[in-house]
Amino acid sequence: MDPLLQISDLSRAYRSGEVETQALDSVSFEVAAGEFVAIMGPSGCGKSTLLNILGFLDSPDSGIYRLRGEDVATLSEARLARLRRAHVGFVFQDFNLIDELDVAENVEVALLYRDTRARRRRIESVLDQVGIAHRARHRPQQLSGGQRQRVAIARALAPEPDLILADEPTGNLDTANGAAVMDLLKSAAAAGTTVIMVTHSSLHAAAADRTIRMLDGRIVAETRL
Ligand code: ADP
Repeated sequence: MDPLLQISDLSRAYRSGEVETQALDSVSFEVAAGEFVAIMGPSGCGKSTLLNILGFLDSPDSGIYRLRGEDVATLSEARLARLRRAHVGFVFQDFNLIDELDVAENVEVALLYRDTRARRRRIESVLDQVGIAHRARHRPQQLSGGQRQRVAIARALAPEPDLILADEPTGNLDTANGAAVMDLLKSAAAAGTTVIMVTHSSLHAAAADRTIRMLDGRIVAETRL
């Protein structure tokens, strides 16, 4: 099967004044559709930089990122914005929900380009899928951390993306809620959504099909499970 995404020799440096930090140093890998990949490594090794590039939030200084064979560098800003909206779902450690909106409205944010009826149906179905439908009219601050992350996953899954990028999604959760979030990500991958997850937890990384270990902007080990 053709890879969903393919990166080769990706490098990214940050410059502030005289100081240059090589956040990514010639990173290459491929990820197949429906694969679940965990990325591990100490703080500062380039994990977030990599996720940002994979989610079209940042561009590399050099190297090629191909999505379904297409070189991302050749795509227009408008096309990238559409891809970000419809094909990539983001999940963060601190949930990133909008406090002023209720649960259903937080999910709706990801569906604004759909017509109202399709939107309502999709919100209902995705809240049901993550087991939070009974809290649809609650605000995020009325929910536990585990429930908030379910909402964030519902928002990420709502547009039926090809790719979920999760940055330490279990980092702020207790063991039981972390396991529940992992189950949702595993189900998404089993249903064909590619999941790339940064994690510090070896236990959670073990649930992935493959673990990529990074150090100082490079891939230093890859394990297929
Ligand atoms: P990780 O997610 O693994 O903690 P990052 O991708 O955030 O790593 O960072 C990689 C390296 O790049 C670190 O040394 C970090 O300090 C540096 N870095 C990240 N973002 C910036 C930035 N905006 N400006 C300068 N340096 C940065």
